[in-house]
Amino acid sequence: MDIRYVPEPFRIKMVETIKMLSREEREMKIAEAKYNMFSLKGEDVYIDLLTDSGTNAMSQEQWAGVMRGDEAYAGGTSYFKLVEAAQDIFGYEYIQPVHQGRAAEKVLFGLLMGEGQYSISNMHFDTTRAHVELSGARAIDCVVAEAADPTVRAPFKGNMDIVKLEELINKYGPDKVKLVIMTITNNSAGGQPVSVQNIRETSEICKKYNIKFCIDAARYAENAYFIKQREPGYENKSIKEIIKEVFSYADMFTMSAKKDSIVNMGGLIGIKNDGKLFQLCKGRTISFEGFTTYGGLSGRDLESLAIGLYEGIDENYLRYRIGQMEYLAGRLDKAGIAYQSPVGGHGVFVDAKAMFPHIPYNEFPGQALAIELYKEAGIRTCDIGSYMLGNDPDTGEQLHADFEFTRLAIPRRVYTQAHIDIMADALIAIKERANTVKGYRITWEPPILRHFQASLEPVK
Ligand SMILES: *Cc1c(COP(=O)(O)O)cnc(C)c1O
Repeated sequence: MDIRYVPEPFRIKMVETIKMLSREEREMKIAEAKYNMFSLKGEDVYIDLLTDSGTNAMSQEQWAGVMRGDEAYAGGTSYFKLVEAAQDIFGYEYIQPVHQGRAAEKVLFGLLMGEGQYSISNMHFDTTRAHVELSGARAIDCVVAEAADPTVRAPFKGNMDIVKLEELINKYGPDKVKLVIMTITNNSAGGQPVSVQNIRETSEICKKYNIKFCIDAARYAENAYFIKQREPGYENKSIKEIIKEVFSYADMFTMSAKKDSIVNMGGLIGIKNDGKLFQLCKGRTISFEGFTTYGGLSGRDLESLAIGLYEGIDENYLRYRIGQMEYLAGRLDKAGIAYQSPVGGHGVFVDAKAMFPHIPYNEFPGQALAIELYKEAGIRTCDIGSYMLGNDPDTGEQLHADFEFTRLAIPRRVYTQAHIDIMADALIAIKERANTVKGYRITWEPPILRHFQASLEPVK
C-alpha cells in the first residue's frame, strides 16, 4: 500500500543551499574522517540525518522571539515566560532551564545517586547512561522483549518491562535503586512510544518501593501523538491533556529541548513538588550552568523555547511530522528493507543486522551502513548499536547490543518529500550490493561516549 505524504503545514520563507560532492570526493572525505560520521564537516554532507537534536527549523514566531529575548542576568522576562509555559504544559511547580538535556542529567543525577547504587530505565540514552555512571551508580536497561525484534509490530515497543522491573528492584535491593527513568519516546529502541498504562504501572511500582520516578522527556510530544493514535481511550483527548496525564505520574523530568521543543539549544529540569530537591538543583545549576534565571542559555534562547514548547505540541504539526516517518517507512516496506517497525517518532532505524547478516556485532553493521549511506548519496546518519553502546565499564569488553540500527534521524521542519525519496533510493541501492559491504574495527577510542570521537578502519 502506498502511503501518502502528509503535506507540510507551513511554507518556506528562508532557504539554505546544500550540495552533493562527487562520489570520489565523498570516499576521500569519509576516509579522512577515519570513518567517524561526527568528524565529517557539515558542508561535505548533502542530507544531514546525524540527529534530530538541535537541527530543527524555527518558525517566524520563534525568530521574532529571538529579537524580544531579555538578556538580563537575573529575572529576565523571557525566563518567566518560559517557566510559565512549562508549568502550563507539564503541570509541575518547579522548572529550571539548562543549556541542554545532558546538563539536566548532570545537575540532577549527582543529587540522587552514587557508588553502589542503580538507575533502571526502559532504556538509558547514551548521555543519560554516562551521567548515571559519572555519579558512580550503574545504569540498567529494562525494555519489553519485543523491542529487540525489529519485525514485531507492537504499538508500544518502547515500554518498560514491568515484571522485570520489579524483579530487578528486588535483585539489587529497593534501597539501592535510586531512580527509575522512563525515556519517552524510547530513543535507543528506535523512537518507540511508551503507553500511558505502562507509565502508570511503572509509577505504581516506584511508589510501592519508594523510588523516585523521572521522565526523560526529549520526545514527549511525539510520544503523546502516538498515544492518541494507538492507546484505547485516548483518541478524543487533546495532545495537551495526554501530556498532563503522563507527567502527573512522575516526580521529575529531564528534557533536551533540542528535540520536540523545536529549538537549536536548550533543556529543562522539572520537579513536581519537591521544593528541597529543587533548592539543591538551583545550587548545582549556578555552579555548572550559570545563574538560575538563564541556566546556560541566552535570553533569546529562553524566549524561542517558550514559543517552541507550544508549537511542538500542535496536532497538525505532529501529524505531518510522524507522517514523514510513515512515508519513508512505506517506501522501505515496498523494497523489503527491514527497520524497527512500526516506525518511530523521530526517524527510521534501519536494521543493519538484517541488511548485512555477514557482519558480526563487533565489526559494527550499523556503522558500516552509515558509511555506505554517505558514500552513496552524501547522507549522514549514525549507528545505534554495539558501536554506540561501547565497552563494559567493569571489564572493558565490547558489549553486544540487542540490535544493530542505522538511524536516519529526521530534523523537524527541514527536509521535503524529494529529500525523503533520496533517502529511500539510497537504501535500496545499498541493499542491492549488500553482500560486498565490509565491517569496521576501532583503531582508537576514548574511555566514555566513544562513538563521538573514535577512529575506525575497514576490516580487510
Ligand atoms: C538527546 C537526548 C538526551 C540528551 O540531550 P542533549 O540535549 O543532547 O544533551 C537525553 N535523553 C534522550 C532520550 C535524548 O534523546
